[in-house]
Amino acid sequence: MRRFLKITIFSLLALAALYVIARNIRHPLLSGEFYSLENSHFRIQYTGISEDEAGKVLTALEKTYGPVRNILHDPDHSLIEVFIYPTREMFQARTGISGSAVTGTSRGPTAFHMLYTDWLNSFLPTDPEQIAVHEFVHCVQLNILIEQFRANTTVTEDPEFSEAFEQRFTEYPQWLWESVSTYYAGEENVISIRYAAGHGQSLEELSTDNDIYLLGYTVIAYVKEQWGEEKVGELIRNYGDTERVLDVTQENFETGWKKYVDENY
Ligand SMILES: [Zn+2]
Repeated sequence: MRRFLKITIFSLLALAALYVIARNIRHPLLSGEFYSLENSHFRIQYTGISEDEAGKVLTALEKTYGPVRNILHDPDHSLIEVFIYPTREMFQARTGISGSAVTGTSRGPTAFHMLYTDWLNSFLPTDPEQIAVHEFVHCVQLNILIEQFRANTTVTEDPEFSEAFEQRFTEYPQWLWESVSTYYAGEENVISIRYAAGHGQSLEELSTDNDIYLLGYTVIAYVKEQWGEEKVGELIRNYGDTERVLDVTQENFETGWKKYVDENY
């Protein structure tokens, strides 16, 4: 028993030492200096994480870049700037967003910011590669909407153009905005889906509720199964108008989607 206790204590101390060493290795990286890593589609600016970690994010983004832009028919897309922060304080200082659950935010079609969490800085770390792809898909949605808007307006100069688009964008449904991003980031968690589906919320209600992050995946999976993935880009261009794109009222779309979730999760 004594021997067991000794081994346990020794193991715990060793783990604690490893943790401290790992933190201290990372700590000098917190100097605030930003490092840069880029390819022809993304420029990542990061601090407080290793080049290897930033590289994994870049690889995940690059893997998604072609397929997602193809299926959604994203027009030409300029280089996307990615800013990665290792602490919530830094993320908050740079983005002005203080919500404790927020881990990323897109800023227009060519920039997004994200918090990098792992077991060194969070009790419940999220997947940085998934967060990056999620925000990237927001950039794609914005690019599609902005270019479509540009093609149909006589206002071409800023700030009038941006103001006019921002006004139009207020009509883009939040449930679609998050569903498309969670779907292409692969955010499918069966337990969370069952939990959130149990609340029985409508798409309208989900537009102002965090459950959309748990259920969003299934909305697009349903569209794909029932009408084909090509329709996702059309839904984006038509601001979620199911009647026009899928030939069903939003009410019937919701009924079908709920049935789909019941049967598949
Ligand atoms: Zn999002």
